[in-house]
Amino acid sequence: MSKILIVEDEISIAELEKDYLELSGFEVEIENDGTTGLKRALEEDFDLYILDLMLPGTDGFEICRKIRENKNIPIIMVSAKKDDIDKIRGLGLGADDYITKPFSPSEMVARVKAHLSRYERLIGSGMPVNDIIEIRGLKIDKTARRVYINGEEKNFTTKEFDLLTFLAQNPNHVFTKEELFSRIWDMESIGDIATVTVHIKKIREKIEMNTAKPQYIETIWGVGYRFKV
Ligand code: CA
Repeated sequence: MSKILIVEDEISIAELEKDYLELSGFEVEIENDGTTGLKRALEEDFDLYILDLMLPGTDGFEICRKIRENKNIPIIMVSAKKDDIDKIRGLGLGADDYITKPFSPSEMVARVKAHLSRYERLIGSGMPVNDIIEIRGLKIDKTARRVYINGEEKNFTTKEFDLLTFLAQNPNHVFTKEELFSRIWDMESIGDIATVTVHIKKIREKIEMNTAKPQYIETIWGVGYRFKV
């Protein structure tokens, strides 16, 4: 039986959702407070989350973000304001669906079923769910080869992506420019270690708030670079 967590502070809405979902054979748990909701979402096993956006304690944005850092389970976001839905879509937090209040409970059940079966197909197909590295506002989707800073996608060339991913996968390890060049560029590549410097500079321009004080890729003078965590 699929287990669903509803995080919703309007008790009547939460109860209505729960009733309809239970009638369709789902097991449903409710949390009315965002902070407790987030804690349970991360600590317990659920098959789908329904998150209200405006919540006491931790809000739905943050819960969605935190769940996505850890799990690929479907997330449906609910909001009373269409503007907020547009905003969360824009942030690319990784929710699977968005519903505006008021909604019809049977529509919600239909969407829950659709997302659960899509997710089960995905898992059953043996297709790897996206392999994601997430460190402070930086998100690297290795499967889709995409990079996001605070939810905003940045365009990376192949080598920039490979270099950033390699460093992020080996945090706190200092690599010399020679090591990085031989790891990321193949032997026949034309270029030298200056290529590494140029690429690091370009990556920093895309991911750092202040390239003079990089918070991700640190220069170790006279040695090379390391990815800070
Ligand atoms: Ca609310």
